This record gives sequence, C-alpha cells and structure tokens, in this order.
Amino acid sequence: MTKIRIIETAYRDAHQSLLATRMRTRDMLPIAEEMDKVGYFSLESWGGATFDTCIRYLNEDPWERLRELKEHVTKTPLQMLLRGQNLVGYKHYPDDIVRRFVEKSYENGVDVFRIFDALNDIRNMELSIKVAKEQEAHVQVVISYTTSPYHTLEKYVEFAKELEARDCDSLAIKDMAGLISPHDTYELIKTLKEETDLLINLHCHCTSGMTPMSYYAACEAGVDILDTAISPLAWGASQPPTESIVAALKETPYDTGLDLKLLNRIKKYFEEIRQKYSGILDPITERVDTDVLIYQIPGGMLSNLVSQLKEQNAMDRYQDVLDEMPRVRKEMGYPPLVTPTSQIVGIQAVMNVLGGERYKNVTQEVKEYMKGFYGRPPAPIDSEVSKKIIGDEEVITCRPADLLEPGLEKCRAEAEKLGIVKKEEDVLTFALYPAVAPKFLRGELEEEPLKPPQDQAASNEVGAVPTDYQVDVDGEVFQVKVVPTGYMEIEQSDQTPTGPVEGGVSSTMQGMVLKLKVTVGDKVNEGDVVAVLEAMKMENNIHAPESGTVEEVFVEEGDTVNAGDPLMVIK
Ligand code: MN
Repeated sequence: MTKIRIIETAYRDAHQSLLATRMRTRDMLPIAEEMDKVGYFSLESWGGATFDTCIRYLNEDPWERLRELKEHVTKTPLQMLLRGQNLVGYKHYPDDIVRRFVEKSYENGVDVFRIFDALNDIRNMELSIKVAKEQEAHVQVVISYTTSPYHTLEKYVEFAKELEARDCDSLAIKDMAGLISPHDTYELIKTLKEETDLLINLHCHCTSGMTPMSYYAACEAGVDILDTAISPLAWGASQPPTESIVAALKETPYDTGLDLKLLNRIKKYFEEIRQKYSGILDPITERVDTDVLIYQIPGGMLSNLVSQLKEQNAMDRYQDVLDEMPRVRKEMGYPPLVTPTSQIVGIQAVMNVLGGERYKNVTQEVKEYMKGFYGRPPAPIDSEVSKKIIGDEEVITCRPADLLEPGLEKCRAEAEKLGIVKKEEDVLTFALYPAVAPKFLRGELEEEPLKPPQDQAASNEVGAVPTDYQVDVDGEVFQVKVVPTGYMEIEQSDQTPTGPVEGGVSSTMQGMVLKLKVTVGDKVNEGDVVAVLEAMKMENNIHAPESGTVEEVFVEEGDTVNAGDPLMVIK
C-alpha cells in the first residue's frame, strides 16, 4: 500500500515564492521543534535564493541558519535546493568550489540534496551528485519540467535512466511554473515508476491552478513524495497546502499518516508569520495566473517583461513580446524556463521586438548560450539564428565546467587579503558572491527593515501612477522602482546632490554596482558602457546618455542603488 510522504517547503520555497525569501531565522526557530514532530520526509530549508537574500538583505549568515535549524530539528532530514554546477549562484563554478561547497553544506546540516540543471544537462549535475553521495547524503536528482515537441515522455524516461545510473536515491519532477496537467502527471509518473527503481517526488507550484488535481493524479500513478507548504504560505506561486493534501488523502491508500491537529498548531504559528510579513506579500503572487497555460511563461516572468517594457515606454508592444517569447524559446532549442534560461529568453524577446530587427542586438548571455557554455539545449538551435549571432565561431561540445580553471585557492587568497575570512565557509560565501559578500563578512551590512503591512495600502492611493513594482524572477521577488528614461529623480541623502543634475546618469532600477568602467576625467562617447549594475540576477549595462567627460562619480563598486539614484555626471 502506498503511503505518501510529504516535504514541507515553508522554510525555503514557500517564502521564496510568496515573501521574496525574506523570512528570518528567528522566525523559523520557535516552531522548528514542533515541525520536527510531524514526520515529514524532509524540511526544505536551504539553498535556492535563501543564500543570496541572507547576505544581501538580511545580514544573516546562511551557514549559521543551517546550523541553528539543525540544532532544533534533530529527527527530520533537512533538504536543500542546489542548482547543479551553479550551486546557489547564477553561473557555473569551477569543480573545486563545487566540491567544497557540497562537503561544507553536508557538514553544516544538509541531509537531502535536490540537484537540478536548467537544461537538464547531466554534465552540469554530475559532480554535485557524486560529492553529495560521497558524504552519504540522500541524493535527489531532478527533471526540470517543461512542455515542447521535444519534451516527450520517452525523452524524460531516457533522462531519468541516465540519472538513475549516477547513484542517487530519489527523483523529483520540478514543475516550476505549475504547467503539468493531471493527465500528463499520471502518464509521466506511472512510466517513471515502471522504468526506474527510484522514489518519485512531485514538486509543483499552484500558478496555473491545476496542481491539486495533478497531485491526486500523481497519487494514483504511484508517486512516493509530494511537496506542500503549510496553508498560510501555500497557493498562488507557492505549493499546495499541506493540511489540505493530508486531509484529502486521509483514509485512502495514499494516506500520509500525518496528524492534522499538530499541523493545525503549526498553521496557527505561520498565520502570525504571514501577517508579520504581509507588507511584502504581493497580491500577484497569491493569484492563479492562467497566462502561463497560453504562453508557457511563468506568471513571475510576465511581470518582469512588463517592467522592462514600461521602463522603455513600450507597453504598446507587450503583445508582440508575448508572441515573440515562444519563437525565441523554439529557436534556442526549447530550454525549460527556469533560472537562468528564463531571463535569457525573456530579455532577448524584448530586444527582438524593440530593436526592430530580430537578433540585431543580443546579450552576452545569449552568445554564450549559443556557444554551448550553458550546456546542451534540449533541441537543436535554429542554424540561421545561430549563424546570425555567433557566425562561424566554435560551439563547445565538452562539459562546460571542464573549461574552468580551479578557483578555490584564488578566492581564498583574495578573501584573506580583504581580511574577511573567519572560517572556511566564508571563503565559499565570497567565491559565490564576490561583489556582495565582502560587505556582509566585514559586518557592515544592515538588516533590511521589515516593510510594515500598512505601507502597501498607502502606496495604492487612487490616482497615483504606480512606479514601484515587484518583479518575480523564478520565485524570487525583487522590489523595482521604475523611472521614465531620460528623466532623473534624485532622492535626498547626505552624500548625493539633490534635484535633477544636468548630465546626470542615474540608475534605472534597484541593484548593485558591479563594475565602474570610468573614473573622473575619462572621456566617453554616447552609448559607451559606464557602469554595470547587477539587478534581477542579470548584469545590466548603464550607457552614457551623451558624449562628454566624467565630472563626478557618486558610487563605488559594491554599493546598492535604488531606481533614480545618481551614479555620475557626464558633461
Ligand atoms: Mn519550486
């Protein structure tokens, strides 16, 4: 008889999907011992965006969070989400860094490693699988789920068998956009159960509204594990509610055996947490968004496109961009849309529409994708598009990380020179986030204040033109303030000038100054890249609005800026 096991996502995906990954450790610990009594398969608590937000916004050491949770949760395995060779960052890291990171994650308390790759390229997953297994952790491999003419049942089974051959313990179907229908769920899971010996786990988001039905279809097909979130942190962009799934399966062959009264006590606690964080809970993330069924674009990504178009005063091209997305995705070989491919495809679609000519302008990321640096796309790339973008340049066929030099000792030397290493984990934090980590490790980061619930009501006054948006990138929500281009609004502060400045170059969105390409006295031409801003996981170039000389620079590399903040003056 099947007995379904439950993974509770409250400590990771649920607050990443609804609360911009902002839950503090101090709000997790008081209920941890109760959670430990439930009998979950695991508590997903680490990885994904949690690492990034800890050191960028919360002034919390992610390693410390893991150790503290481990002290309170003694029976239930702790689970993390690992982006394969990308670890908890957004690019491939060298093998020595991957190895050390996985070892240290295990040492600090991770029991279950859920490992995925955006392109389902096993070569980007194999090292982390191997090292996690060496630690004797539970290794859960992942199929990143999407739909296309190339994503057939046969292909998924083939990939699952390839993964099974790598010494792993379970297989998760990661349906990040909630795209999987009940029928397809049944077919896929039934076939995977027949063709492999792996435990099968279904992980879905409720975005399209189909998910609870798909969960039941999964049960009928023999699924072993389901991901759910305690109800105050469920629905919308998050997982189905734990209590509802437990109740629905009660006294059926799929009974989870979990105690609803105990879950209810946990629910009461998280109701308070939800209230406490309600200022950052965006109504958009709570809704069902059926656009995903038409354009196969996750709801969060749609809002990302909207903000890009508004920024360029091109909202009238919105439908064109929507129509362009599937074309770009097809030409790029149907990548599943998840970090980082979702951003790569989305931005290219915008550039194709606004540029007047398709692929006239391309991002660095698209070039690298075309050259194979992200791995093997699921389907062949359109040869004409490829020719237009990279010409006759060589496409790599090897495992992308094989081209990377070892990096750990270099990072260690650099971090030690900066005087920010107190423990081995600090070297890894620096290796993954070289621009963000120093400020945090020096103890100079201040915890971002929690947005009070009433703020939202005040900013929604009738008649006001909204300029503040929450942009959701693969479940991680960014606060973005949009300012019309060509107009500069400067917020008052001690160090910066007030009022519009002639020749001023300002930031168009909230982000971090990654690189300054110019210093005072430099001559620049109109359109030159003067600074690189990191926002929404992508590097954004800031261009000189006109030719001239750099007269003043107001920011330093590593500074966080808001939309409208002055960066420099060019005259
Ligand atoms: Mn997820």
